[in-house]
Amino acid sequence: MHASIKTVGRSWQGGKVFCLLVLSALLWGCAGHDPDGPPRQAVPGPKLVVLGTAQDGGFPHAACACVRCVLARSDRSAARLIASVAIVDRSTGTRILVDAGPDIREQLEILQAADPDRPDRVDRSPVDGVLLTHAHLGHYTGLAFFGFEAVHTQDLPVWCSSSMAAYLTENGPWSQLVGIGNIVLGKMEPWKPFEPLPGIEVIAVPVPHRDEYADTFGFVVRGERSTVFYAPDTDSWDHWDPPVTGLLEDVDVAILDATFYSADELPGRRVEEIGHPLMTATMDLLQPLVDSGRLQVWFTHMNHSNPVLGPNPQARDEVERRGFHIAEDGLEFPL
Ligand SMILES: [Zn+2]
Ligand SMILES: [Zn+2]
Repeated sequence: MHASIKTVGRSWQGGKVFCLLVLSALLWGCAGHDPDGPPRQAVPGPKLVVLGTAQDGGFPHAACACVRCVLARSDRSAARLIASVAIVDRSTGTRILVDAGPDIREQLEILQAADPDRPDRVDRSPVDGVLLTHAHLGHYTGLAFFGFEAVHTQDLPVWCSSSMAAYLTENGPWSQLVGIGNIVLGKMEPWKPFEPLPGIEVIAVPVPHRDEYADTFGFVVRGERSTVFYAPDTDSWDHWDPPVTGLLEDVDVAILDATFYSADELPGRRVEEIGHPLMTATMDLLQPLVDSGRLQVWFTHMNHSNPVLGPNPQARDEVERRGFHIAEDGLEFPL
């Protein structure tokens, strides 16, 4: 089975921003890469590539027999990898991974398959750096594969917050990666732009989230063609100070936490107790920006309970009717 390619163009105030979106889950192999498939079509130049769109527990979720997980287990094209994106520039052969989760092995295969001509690095590192949002299962535990038992990288830059750097330095097994130089921690200052790749600017945005071990960042990624904001995990938008809407005025594409669609997924829990903005609330908040044509919103980090994952199309149809989008593994955005 081959993926369909979907190309979306749009005009932009003050110039043409060209959002070429390539929906190619199967071409990229996320849920079932087909190496004998048709020639790959991809966004040229620097881009942000979606490598996974599921919540930390994966989809199908670990040890779950709900209707959606059973379907995703029987039809791997419906499965999703755990949320992650990469910033890729094939012209320079560089790749930055944004979050390193439990599906990292498959995600590194996907990156390599998409750019098999990338020159080998002396240290065999499959990426040139990693940006970390936070210290929860789905976002950093894949770092272990850069360690002694697996890739055994040398001085791989890993950029994160100061508290995340302290957590990784002080706690095994991550401290071993630091101690033997598999990774080198770079501390990101909130709101201070830096360039992990030439021509690509990243701004770390503090994100309110349950911060048991370290605090949380989202990332504004700014290229010459467009600016993308990536925030896969956050508490309710009510906890943002300053409000997220101000930040989103200045970005073209937002890829946002869609863990839960509605409170129906969490019987017995009050909405205020749910540690994520419901998709319905996010759409209510951002509807004016979306309606104005100034912002594209793509949802990611879906929990297996989320009805946008099926089998009934009602929730997904409602998202699309309102002008929002469900991100797919393999989606690409020009930077
Ligand atoms: Zn998460
Ligand atoms: Zn989290």
